[in-house]
Amino acid sequence: MTVEEPKQNPTHALYKPNFRTERYPKNRTPWISSFEQYKAMHEQSINEPDVFWRLRASELVEFNTPFHTVCSGSLSEGNVKWFEGGKLNISYNCVDRWAEKTPDAVAIIYEADQPGGAKSVTYKELLDQVSRIAGVFKSFGLEKGDTVAIYMPMVPEAAATMLACTRLGLVHNVVFAGFSAHSLAERIRDSNSKVVVTSDQGLRGGKIIHNKKIVDEALLTCPSVTKVLVFERTGAEVPMQQGRDVSWSKALSEQNEFVPPVFVDSEDPMFIMYTSGSTGKPKGLLHTTAGYLVGVAMTARYSFDLSSGDVICSTADVGWITGHSYAVYGPLCLGVTTVIFESIPNYPDGSRLWKVVEDHKVTHLYTAPTAIRSLRRLGDEFVNCTDLSSLRVIASVGEPINPEAWVWYKSVVGKDLCPVVDTYWQTETGSHLITAIPFATTTKPGSATFPMFGIEPAILDPNTGEELTGPNVKGVLCIKKPWPSIARSILGDHDRYLTTYMHAYKGVYFTGDAAMRDEDGYYWINGRVDDVINVSGHRMSTAEIESAIIQNESVAESAVVGIEDEITGQSICAFVTLQAGLKESDQIKKSIIAKIRSEIGPIATPKNLVFVNELPKNRFGKILRRILRKIASGESDQLGDLSTVADPHSITELVARVHIML
Ligand code: ATP
Ligand code: MG
Repeated sequence: MTVEEPKQNPTHALYKPNFRTERYPKNRTPWISSFEQYKAMHEQSINEPDVFWRLRASELVEFNTPFHTVCSGSLSEGNVKWFEGGKLNISYNCVDRWAEKTPDAVAIIYEADQPGGAKSVTYKELLDQVSRIAGVFKSFGLEKGDTVAIYMPMVPEAAATMLACTRLGLVHNVVFAGFSAHSLAERIRDSNSKVVVTSDQGLRGGKIIHNKKIVDEALLTCPSVTKVLVFERTGAEVPMQQGRDVSWSKALSEQNEFVPPVFVDSEDPMFIMYTSGSTGKPKGLLHTTAGYLVGVAMTARYSFDLSSGDVICSTADVGWITGHSYAVYGPLCLGVTTVIFESIPNYPDGSRLWKVVEDHKVTHLYTAPTAIRSLRRLGDEFVNCTDLSSLRVIASVGEPINPEAWVWYKSVVGKDLCPVVDTYWQTETGSHLITAIPFATTTKPGSATFPMFGIEPAILDPNTGEELTGPNVKGVLCIKKPWPSIARSILGDHDRYLTTYMHAYKGVYFTGDAAMRDEDGYYWINGRVDDVINVSGHRMSTAEIESAIIQNESVAESAVVGIEDEITGQSICAFVTLQAGLKESDQIKKSIIAKIRSEIGPIATPKNLVFVNELPKNRFGKILRRILRKIASGESDQLGDLSTVADPHSITELVARVHIML
């Protein structure tokens, strides 16, 4: 790898990958080893999509009946279909075929909440478990098309339950076990789930979560649910309702017949997933079978350079789309080993995630900027006391990653020997949209770089909808052509699907995010369109101001919002948290402001800069700017939907603090 200076502003550094000098097995070459190869494949994916996707589908997925049409329908009509005529089974592709070929290969490594409680599940064992769960589902009378809600901790049994659903053509609806009874009930009702799979309790960061109790409370308002399957995670005594609640261990042990996979149509529904709720009430996106599987397998292979023998640890919970696509379906469809991490990266201390990498010889680490920033905040010693030499590719997802955090990830975690892959995508898109290719793309810290195969991005003028072509343009990010893993609908509200994504701008899919394409054609995601700040006619992104702030060594995280201003239209309010152990001071404040002025310009100077202990985040660690915007505007009494807020108590504290400061 070569680094070109200047490094002072990390945004301007260039990192050119080279698998021969980075950590790469001597006897292998990457799936894509040059930028030319990436370009050629991308061009084919756009100009000859039928050829491209036919090839990918045949390489990655086994169809029981071949498809006759690669793609039909259009974005504007919202009726896209992929691989029509085909029949396949997801669990067959992710489990059976590996259980036949490499039965003793490890499918899942389970890293339990308490360190030291790890265990491995081979593909053969996984198949046995999936078949048993499917048998239990059949005994419940579930039939193809029925929906199952899953409210479980990050345990292998959660992944097995998802796979058991797909084995029978059941639709799963995984709800993050951390959501309240009210949020769970809403999702169960909205998806009309008939069965809930849960655990007695959950454990996360040493804390007990009373899953079964929460399910019981939720079900008071969910008449559609007839059975609850209860996995014994801790073995605690929990009330079991006669006739409805069934013990996992008992029910599975009674299954003695192998349950074969049910082959379903390419376009049959596969799962429902609610968005993470950063901007408001979550939307229940519907994903279908073949397109989703081909999309995640293709991106898992190329964005991460994954092959059998590799070990990926995606720290995302299965209750989030990242957990679906890159902790379960993508890795297992490729026959690789996936680490299911039940705990949190800093439990019991800041070395936990790094110890997981060391213990399980993780080759691919996939986590979120929020985790990277918070681990960086704890200091380098936690990283340096572990052996991370197994790591080959380190990746990020969920929010724009500040260049400062990117460089830390690259140099301290990756020891400058692993490419950083910043993957931009959404629940709606099923798989990566814009991402570097690890051993092919020269990266710039903070940029997601270039489009994935099949993705043709466009930057539009937000007001006129006109496409802004060429370099150095800023606007709203849209996608011009359908790709296989795009969500097909919002459950029960196809009109909302059309208006939100397909009809906002003519003929294209609207991501809701703002983006910039620089002079070299690199894409920079600037955050959500609603978060773009307009000061006296100058449009600025929250991401660029936050990145300038975080360059200050004392700063851990920051969130910037625009609030109404009589004179300038909007003014900037910045919220800042400091590195562990540091105290706020006028000096820090002044140096932050000086940095913003020199990096972006005086126009970006915050009118208010508030030091806080914690930023409000949702349960996936994403900063909730909409809440900060309300608080900063003095509208703390109208905070809107708070069901996805991770720690409601932090909001109360924040309101009090901001009230004093502003
Ligand atoms: P909601 O739609 O309910 O407000 P959400 O958008 O946070 O929630 P997700 O689908 O989980 O729910 O997140 C997708 C969004 O996350 C993207 O639209 C983008 O704003 C942000 N995002 C994800 N990955 C990246 C990335 N690598 N760089 C920048 N932003 C990212
Ligand atoms: Mg969204």
